[in-house]
Amino acid sequence: MNARKPSWLKIKLKDASKLIEVKKMLDRLSLHTVCEEANCPNVIECFGRKTATFMILGRICTRNCTFCNVGKGEVEEVDFEEPYRVASAVQELNLKHVVITSVTRDDLSDGGADHFVRVIEKIRELENKVTIEVLIPDFQGDGDALLKVIKGRPDILNHNIETVPRLYSSVRPQANYLRSLKLLENAKQIDDAIYTKSGIMLGLGEKEEEVVNVMKDLRNIGCDVLTIGQYLAPSKNHHPVIEYIEPVIFEKYKEIGYELGFKYVASGPLVRSSYHADEFFT
Ligand code: SF4
Repeated sequence: MNARKPSWLKIKLKDASKLIEVKKMLDRLSLHTVCEEANCPNVIECFGRKTATFMILGRICTRNCTFCNVGKGEVEEVDFEEPYRVASAVQELNLKHVVITSVTRDDLSDGGADHFVRVIEKIRELENKVTIEVLIPDFQGDGDALLKVIKGRPDILNHNIETVPRLYSSVRPQANYLRSLKLLENAKQIDDAIYTKSGIMLGLGEKEEEVVNVMKDLRNIGCDVLTIGQYLAPSKNHHPVIEYIEPVIFEKYKEIGYELGFKYVASGPLVRSSYHADEFFT
């Protein structure tokens, strides 16, 4: 469908000077961010707030989600210098909260879990006051991989459920709804001191009842934090936007989220998984 973007999705241009400064630093440190790879509409604001979501393990994913702008094809070698460079960027940006994510590396025996731990440890070595959020893939349900990451002691373990189960086959065909729920449930059972977080996109054809059921499923497995945002198609070759959800509906989901017991709910058209992620701790 991809109808015309409604007014509430139009972003007022902000001062881009910080954006340029942060981009220069990222280039100098040869670092990737999901902010740039996913063409996130909030990049000027977030870089302006000196926050960024670092994407480790290369820019090429082994999966093919139809909503995602990340590259597909020949995956890159694991870069063992990357943990130090990410930690240096955290220090240079004087970040209070850092989000580390990755493409899905089904080609690696542990899905890249070891590398997540190397990055967490290096950040803690250089900057131990920062809170660390890891936004992980599903590691194909590999419990040992999840355990490795949890032993790395991130402050928040995030795994996006992305959409409602009925739409998985058309939106994220290599993923599995129950497997993703199980991953978040296991994380909480292994160490309930770690906050768990998940996120969904709206506008892919889901019904309100289905969204509320996903929120209930997440609460039933002890998920603490939820983000809900509007899906925006990166191009005409990606999954079309079926509907632009009104801001008042996002407000309604936010209320429902708190009624269900989430500790923190960020819900709005421009909300993304890491958007204002630091606010949970302030
Ligand atoms: S697994 Fe993640 S990075 Fe890979 S295509 Fe899907 S959403 Fe994009």
